[in-house]
Amino acid sequence: MVKTVSILGSTGSIGRQSIAVAQRLGIRVAALTASRQIELLERQARALKPDFVAVYDEQAARQFRVAVADTPIRVGSGLEGLVEAAVFSGSECVVTAVSGAVGLKPTLAAIAEKKRIALANKETLVCAGEIVMRRAAETGAEILPVDSEHSAIFQCLSGRGKGELKKILLTGSGGPFRGKKREELEGITPEQAVRHPNWSMGAKISVDSSTLMNKGLEFIEAMHLFAVRPEDIQVLIHPQSIIHSMVELVDGAVIAQLGAPDMGLPIQLALTYPERRDTPFERLDFWRMKDLHFEEPDLENMPCLRLAMDAAKTGGTAPCVMSAANEAAVQLFLQGRLGYNRIYDAAAGAIERLGVTAHPDLETILAADEAARAYVREAFSA
Ligand code: MG
Repeated sequence: MVKTVSILGSTGSIGRQSIAVAQRLGIRVAALTASRQIELLERQARALKPDFVAVYDEQAARQFRVAVADTPIRVGSGLEGLVEAAVFSGSECVVTAVSGAVGLKPTLAAIAEKKRIALANKETLVCAGEIVMRRAAETGAEILPVDSEHSAIFQCLSGRGKGELKKILLTGSGGPFRGKKREELEGITPEQAVRHPNWSMGAKISVDSSTLMNKGLEFIEAMHLFAVRPEDIQVLIHPQSIIHSMVELVDGAVIAQLGAPDMGLPIQLALTYPERRDTPFERLDFWRMKDLHFEEPDLENMPCLRLAMDAAKTGGTAPCVMSAANEAAVQLFLQGRLGYNRIYDAAAGAIERLGVTAHPDLETILAADEAARAYVREAFSA
């Protein structure tokens, strides 16, 4: 079990739950970062007494510095601040709970320092999976997935050799609009899109869950984390979110990980691994459990998943361009400046417009990310 941790994105949903897990287990939180929610960040900092806090937004960082001037806490800002928190010498492990591509550089910096990565930022692997996994293999940094599906797959594969895996069964609830036709989704508002039936999450990932883009990003994330091909992953809609994912082994045995839908467990396991500790979370009661359902994903009416699966096969900069364009489009949607169905149009349009570079280096990836965002801002913002 790790004894010290840096939490990047501490005011978000995963960040707050990570703090709760760390406090319960007696893990010291040595560094925190947030984007701009400085009132909550100040409460966290006063309670946890970290050595270092970084605020991504420069103006918010200035306010935060004034707010904690009476404490010995060192304050950083910008992407540099996030990187400093990620490589902070007082932390053994980094929880990467920031949303979006901003997580990439801090994660790579932490890998270079051989920190354990509790990876909750899926965009990092989507954009630069090849590079991230190669560098982790080089330095020996452990990457432990915090995404519930990937944590489940990781648990199912624990102790098994590479040749034993036949395929990954990546489950997803299908989101709040499961069974709806694309035309019916035309007027969906941000309030409707962020209301997820099973999981409580941040706004960006909730919208992604509703479009199934989240499942698509998880598809790409799984390819990199578990070194499998796109054809080795099958997406399975399972509305109850009790099975968090499964693996089929070469002999036909299927191993599943089940649990109540609570991110606390994957967060805790990433921090305690290889140990397991008691948790106060809800337990499954099989006597009271209703039926478990499974269906094929509806790629016709949820085209974001199909787009992501195609981008996974194409590889190169395609996943990064798609993810960045999606991120920019979701932002516009949440601001009420873009229609719900246009999110797909933006992500698909960006790949078509910008093209794909095979085996990109980090510079190429970051440039593709920026170009995709610029394309969406120009072509899609009302
Ligand atoms: Mg997930």
